[in-house]
Amino acid sequence: MKKHNFYAGPSILPDFTIENTAEAIRDFAGMGLSLMEISHRSKEFVAVMDEAQALFKELLNIPEGYSVLFLGGGASTQFAMIPYNLLNKKAAYLNTGAWAKKAIKEAKLFGEVDVVASSEETTFNYIPKDYTIPEDADYFHITTNNTIYGTEIREDIDSPVPLVADMSSDIFSRPVDVSKYVLIYGGAQKNLAPAGVTFIIIKDDILGKVDRAIPTMLNYQTHIDKGSMFNTPPVVPVYAALQTLKWLKNNGGIAEMEKKNIEKARILYDEIDRNKLFVGTVAKEDRSLMNICFVMNEEYKELEKEFFDFATAKGMVGIKGHRSVGGFRASTYNALPKESVEALVAVMQEFEKMK
Ligand SMILES: *Cc1c(COP(=O)(O)O)cnc(C)c1O
Repeated sequence: MKKHNFYAGPSILPDFTIENTAEAIRDFAGMGLSLMEISHRSKEFVAVMDEAQALFKELLNIPEGYSVLFLGGGASTQFAMIPYNLLNKKAAYLNTGAWAKKAIKEAKLFGEVDVVASSEETTFNYIPKDYTIPEDADYFHITTNNTIYGTEIREDIDSPVPLVADMSSDIFSRPVDVSKYVLIYGGAQKNLAPAGVTFIIIKDDILGKVDRAIPTMLNYQTHIDKGSMFNTPPVVPVYAALQTLKWLKNNGGIAEMEKKNIEKARILYDEIDRNKLFVGTVAKEDRSLMNICFVMNEEYKELEKEFFDFATAKGMVGIKGHRSVGGFRASTYNALPKESVEALVAVMQEFEKMK
């Protein structure tokens, strides 16, 4: 039976990425060797790293003066690395979910943290909009897509201080005006590559402004100077990321992806709103295009497990909501075809008819 992969992360990747990576694991660049057993300093792999950085810049239209890094450690290491490198006295954070909270916790180790607004008291079911960013903050940190709760900031906001964004789960889902940010980062395992590589887009001239000493590996300057090759980069995930970037380019680029993502999300949200059994969990204007969260309507609460089992038997994979929210979450990343969304909708309709 065909499986429809709605996992939140690690998550669905294009067949193009998986097939090309599998092939390179058998024989990389005609070397007669596996991608897993060659030097990261070989000219063949250096070409992969260079091309991945160049395509990343091309697809996102990244202006001059920015570097793209591919490091280990996950987005979670960035929660500490950002304040380590950028926080002198005070930073501002928007608390929109579990990942934002983790970022705030780390920043507090390095200085004063001003949480300008939070939606925690209503289980993060909306994006706060009424807040003031302190002009004396070293930077303002946002999480553009809240993977667990299903809310998203889909505009590039104006900030009076340098803007930093965790885009782990919505990078490449829409065009971004990178010039509005000084740093964008994320774990690649949501919309780009298998787990193991973290991407960072960083404006070169924001560094060198903090007084503290920074350990070599945690200093962005180290990795900018060495083109992400100071130490051994995650070779296989970087190769896979390059395949996804090629796939994006071959499929019309990010503007085309956004169109498809809007269409996929519309199909599923329309069904959630129409179907008497289900209800969405977040404010409509803040609904994520990438992680679509819903629960059983109050009077049908006891059907939750039955629907989950029904959908699973029909090939739906990974639709269980995060344990902190419950219900269901369908992640509709770039690589998820519209047919999978339509298959889920058909299952929801079939289940409704049975009730
Ligand atoms: C998954 C996720 C993270 C954590 O990423 P790791 O690479 O596992 O550290 C951080 N932020 C957001 C928004 C995420 O979705």
